[in-house]
Amino acid sequence: MLNAHLNFKLLEMCSKCGACFSICPSCVNLPGYDPRIVIKDILAGDWEKWLTSKSIWQCLECHHCLEICFQHYGFENAMTALRTIAAKRGIHPTQVKRGWDMFVKTSKLGDPALPARKKLGLPEPAKSGAEEFKKLYALLKEKKAKSGKTH
Ligand code: SF4
Ligand code: SF4
Repeated sequence: MLNAHLNFKLLEMCSKCGACFSICPSCVNLPGYDPRIVIKDILAGDWEKWLTSKSIWQCLECHHCLEICFQHYGFENAMTALRTIAAKRGIHPTQVKRGWDMFVKTSKLGDPALPARKKLGLPEPAKSGAEEFKKLYALLKEKKAKSGKTH
């Protein structure tokens, strides 16, 4: 299943490298967050246990590991792939589900803080793409219903 999401050859290189550990903000600041261990477990076929770990949700998707990486691959891909599978299985922190539900309902993750923007002299925020999103989401659901997929 993970094969569909990850390039194992590149991950092999990653498991021998570890160069981006020291520039990953989560690695440096969060005790126990170590994608090197996750990647080793993925390569050993022992990755299911990470689906219930909070670690996979602690990746900030800041892309620092991709920026520095000589193969433009690595830590982030492993964590994203595990999060994707966990989410499909309904294993996720409640905040993530709440955020997703709100996004589906309103097409927004929150409203811009207008007074703060005004104070900072920022212009009116751009109109949200809520209507376009709703149309696309309805099309996606229709397509999935036709193909018999649930995710
Ligand atoms: S994208 Fe995730 S794994 Fe990569 S540097 Fe940022 S926090 Fe670390
Ligand atoms: S993501 Fe790239 S730089 Fe980081 S450990 Fe893997 S191969 Fe090395």
